[in-house]
Amino acid sequence: MTTDLPTVDRRHSSVPAAEFDGGDMDCGSGLLLAITSAMRGVADGEVLLLRTSEPSVLADLPAWARLAGHDLLNATEQQAGRGPWSLMIRRGQSGRPSQQPDYSQGEAVPLGSRLWLYSNFHCNLACSYCCAESSPHAQARLMPVALAAAAAAEFVGQGGRELLVTGGEPFLHPELDALVAGTSAFVPVTVLTNAMVFTRGRRREMLESFDRDTVTLQISLDSAAPGLHDRQRGIGSHRKAIAGIRLASDLGFRVRVTATYLPEDAADAGDLDRVLDEMNIAEDDRVIRPVALEGSAAAGVAISLDSVYPEPTLTVDGAWWHPVAVTNSRLKVAEAPLPLSHVLDVMRDVVAVQEAAGEQDRSVFRCT
Ligand code: SF4
Repeated sequence: MTTDLPTVDRRHSSVPAAEFDGGDMDCGSGLLLAITSAMRGVADGEVLLLRTSEPSVLADLPAWARLAGHDLLNATEQQAGRGPWSLMIRRGQSGRPSQQPDYSQGEAVPLGSRLWLYSNFHCNLACSYCCAESSPHAQARLMPVALAAAAAAEFVGQGGRELLVTGGEPFLHPELDALVAGTSAFVPVTVLTNAMVFTRGRRREMLESFDRDTVTLQISLDSAAPGLHDRQRGIGSHRKAIAGIRLASDLGFRVRVTATYLPEDAADAGDLDRVLDEMNIAEDDRVIRPVALEGSAAAGVAISLDSVYPEPTLTVDGAWWHPVAVTNSRLKVAEAPLPLSHVLDVMRDVVAVQEAAGEQDRSVFRCT
């Protein structure tokens, strides 16, 4: 947590303008994000006092400070003995260490062009691999409509082009219709859903209120046959998902289908293409993705700061590096979802330092 100290002009003095306690975090487990965010809270020339009890920080911090354009005022080699240690970092005049990261390879979208919003965290299902730890018993953590609209407005103002609403099951948000209307007024929106709860009643009305020209539905279907899908997502969920896909298509929506499974379960997925052909799902709207080792998952692809391209993700209570990492405190970018400019600046700073350090072997973890 960053603490603001009493206001005096501390530029070019060694008196800290703010403090941050990094505890036992190391640079690979969240400290990089945290101090990058903390440094954005002090002005050029001011000093951040970093407290740490993690010995590896003494070795890693000088390289980070040099790459980020900041000055480390006390030499870490003089910090002998047992911690905790106090390190003074003066913010460089340049502010940002480099330009927009290079996304010229792979499927990565430029940072700032795609934004994820978690509308809520509760769900009618409790899938075995759910990265958000959603279930009927999870706290709802509803995103207010006004917050979603403000995020969309700021996002588009900064050049954003694509917004995705996920959860939890978004159709359990009692004001999803207003949330989608308030965001799709600015930018095309994709709503991720298990397609099981919108067939009738108020939720059907919310679905039918969506603008077909600006709203896409992304629906989970993990296999052609019920076996794998129901094993991962619950008995009877395959049949209801198929019905939901057909309904959404019949209502005139563009439907994208996403299948999620571990490589060793691929044989159980069946001939998904044949089923999707029958339902007239376009080939470009079929996504097969691995399970991420996050949230409720017991196995899957490990996610870390330097292993995946960032995709800014907002929840009601913060901002995160990637939509599959919203239960991972080490990948929390900010304690508040807005301003989005702060979130994007922190992420760009981190990526720029990683690229300057030659750490460019990230991959795209595709969720859409
Ligand atoms: S994976 Fe999706 S449908 Fe399954 S519990 Fe999580 S949010 Fe719900």
